[in-house]
Amino acid sequence: MEKYDLVVAGAGGGLVGAIKAAQLGLKVLLIDASPDFINTCNTSMTSGMFPASGSRWQKEKGIVDSPEIFAKDIMKKTKNSGHVVATKALTNVSVEVFEWMADSLGVPWELVTDFHYPGHSVDRCLSVPGRMGQLVLGPIWKVASDQKLFDFRASTRLVDVVIKDGQVVAAVVENSDGSQEEIATDNVLMATNGYGANQKLLAEHNEEVSYIYYHGSRYSKGEALQIGIKHGAGYGYLDSYQGHAAISSHAKTLVGWTTIMQGGFIVNSGGERFGDESAGYSEYAAILNDQKGNTGWIVIDKAIHEGSLLFKEYENTAASGAIVWADSIEELATAIAVPVDKLTAELDNAHAVHDGKGQDRFGRKAFEKRLQAPFGAIKVRPALFHTQGGVQVNADAQVLREDGSVIKGLYAAGGAAVGISGHGSDGYLAGNGLLPAFGFAYLAAKSVASA
Ligand SMILES: Cc1cc2nc3c(=O)[nH]c(=O)nc-3n(C[C@H](O)[C@H](O)[C@H](O)COP(=O)(O)OP(=O)(O)OC[C@H]3O[C@@H](n4cnc5c(N)ncnc54)[C@H](O)[C@@H]3O)c2cc1C
Repeated sequence: MEKYDLVVAGAGGGLVGAIKAAQLGLKVLLIDASPDFINTCNTSMTSGMFPASGSRWQKEKGIVDSPEIFAKDIMKKTKNSGHVVATKALTNVSVEVFEWMADSLGVPWELVTDFHYPGHSVDRCLSVPGRMGQLVLGPIWKVASDQKLFDFRASTRLVDVVIKDGQVVAAVVENSDGSQEEIATDNVLMATNGYGANQKLLAEHNEEVSYIYYHGSRYSKGEALQIGIKHGAGYGYLDSYQGHAAISSHAKTLVGWTTIMQGGFIVNSGGERFGDESAGYSEYAAILNDQKGNTGWIVIDKAIHEGSLLFKEYENTAASGAIVWADSIEELATAIAVPVDKLTAELDNAHAVHDGKGQDRFGRKAFEKRLQAPFGAIKVRPALFHTQGGVQVNADAQVLREDGSVIKGLYAAGGAAVGISGHGSDGYLAGNGLLPAFGFAYLAAKSVASA
């Protein structure tokens, strides 16, 4: 039977692990549970924000950044509760992996500078035109398949690994007809994401979000966590998750926080704001969920609308008819059935803070612009995007036992591995999802190749 140097399970971030490993001369098999991962994995659904600290795109714009500055931002956002080893490894590798994707795979990165994500002290997020993960993954997949870099099997699930004398010797996979087989290999990378689609695991480890609408991949069933635990892996931060407070109630698309970071704000069904939106979209999911009807309205104007059209998902939201437009704030209040005096007062407050004539009662430091008629409102609901905790790994993405020793040949990346967002939802910084997915997959490939 054919033996592989590496079996990669999961073709989101795992895809770059498979490509890198093949480029380094390894015989690789990539499997994915989905028949159509390009359209179903979490990575494809993203706004495509990939953070790199000290990249050449930052240098071109005179932005000073480094892994140390980035790590500090991560630690500040997590109130120093983030995973130190993972944070260091990922901030250190961020430039290498994303510059390699540009040079070797032709990814047309652009530095996002038109608005600033909460918690990043400098602009460091890279994205591609259209700003969607699928627009990164699709072309990379084409490069990999055109070059026949590795073997690939769709509709094939990793269900276990075989470990003999402390070393991985096979991956156990389940085919779409339910049959199982062992594939001989010394190394398995679990890049199968977290357990957002597994209600039982959510109830067990992350009750806070077990009843919130889930907006991630339906294939995120938590198999990596279960396989890891079965073989004695340590795990951590299982209560950590990325939420989002801006899913269109109408279209179920991502409206995006660019609406807020350009000066928009959110009111509840009573027409009132209920917090500092600029703290972050992840923690705002639970805050929005506490409002009557678990929904709110993002209030914007035409300039914010036009700035947001850089995002494909926002464009989809607009095209769905989810935005209510009105020529005055009073007409907008009537159109969305909130009290006119309350909504008008919120606009006046935003303008006063913007003009430096008052302080926001929730502590929001900036409303980036004065909103001008016509005004728009988009009804939003909160969502769980993905879970952040997982099996413990070292700086090479090797899975660790509870005592800290390495399970030889077992690797984890992305939502399968322990994350860098601390606990709960408020430690999440934009990019904390994709960096562990791509960074750890890349590090795993290098580690296997150098063994
Ligand atoms: C709408 C949205 C927007 C987001 N925007 C951003 C952003 O801009 N920046 C950011 O950093 N993060 C973002 N995130 C978070 C991001 O999606 C995840 O953190 C990241 O994609 C996880 O990558 P992954 O490789 O671990 O998982 P995935 O991309 O989901 O890949 C896992 C793959 O494994 C497959 N699979 C699952 N189980 C098995 C199994 N047992 N065997 C074989 N295959 C299996 C799945 O089918 C899937 O293809 C966003 C999330 C959502 C929902």
